[in-house]
Amino acid sequence: MTVAQQLSEVRKKISEYAARYQRDPAGITLLAVSKQQSLPAIQAAVAEGQCDFGENYLQEALNKITVLSEAKLCWHFIGPIQSNKTRDIAAHFSWVHSIDRLKIAERLNAQRPEHLTPLNVCIEVNLDNERTKAGIAPAAVTDFAKIIRRLPRLKLRGLMAIPQVQNDFSGQRQAFANLRMQLESLNQLGMDLDTLSMGMSDDLEAAIAEGATCVRIGKAIFGARQ
Ligand SMILES: *Cc1c(COP(=O)(O)O)cnc(C)c1O
Repeated sequence: MTVAQQLSEVRKKISEYAARYQRDPAGITLLAVSKQQSLPAIQAAVAEGQCDFGENYLQEALNKITVLSEAKLCWHFIGPIQSNKTRDIAAHFSWVHSIDRLKIAERLNAQRPEHLTPLNVCIEVNLDNERTKAGIAPAAVTDFAKIIRRLPRLKLRGLMAIPQVQNDFSGQRQAFANLRMQLESLNQLGMDLDTLSMGMSDDLEAAIAEGATCVRIGKAIFGARQ
């Protein structure tokens, strides 16, 4: 199948799951994860009206952003961040989903160019407390969110997670429900957060069932990565 056909299938699934779980499909942004995908593949998605793209590797992303600058796309950084990369991320992306260290947040805040609106950010949560995985421990999220909200050049939008791989639907739902409840508890403190960045190619339905507002889909749109 072509990228156009696969993208259309993913859009259909999002509408179908939204209907199944009584969600407004307009409240679910499809983020096309284009890491390790070719420029022509991305251009094929752009031609179908796709405008949000997610990237994990800065150098690769900067090339794409430069070549595609005419298309007015919205770029999201979703991978781990080293401190020597923050300046370019702050200048070239609209969103960062993978905030899990104060030092990185402070650098992005200091380096966000004046002429741009505040950088939209999500805190990445390590839902299962996995030792090898990025993200803030669930118990530490509230304090971390309070600190991030004080950084004026960042706009805290919500939470992101990549749960442990699970093949059963109810297990997938449980992990996403935990992230949703975490967001609700921040909002009960008056934080007014609107973003739950969760759900990938293999757990899309569970994420939509639990309230995902941004789903990050790579291989279901573009096929295997190069
Ligand atoms: C690669 C990646 C995705 C996309 O995963 P697929 O299984 O290809 O849909 C989503 N989120 C993050 C953070 C990723 O690194």
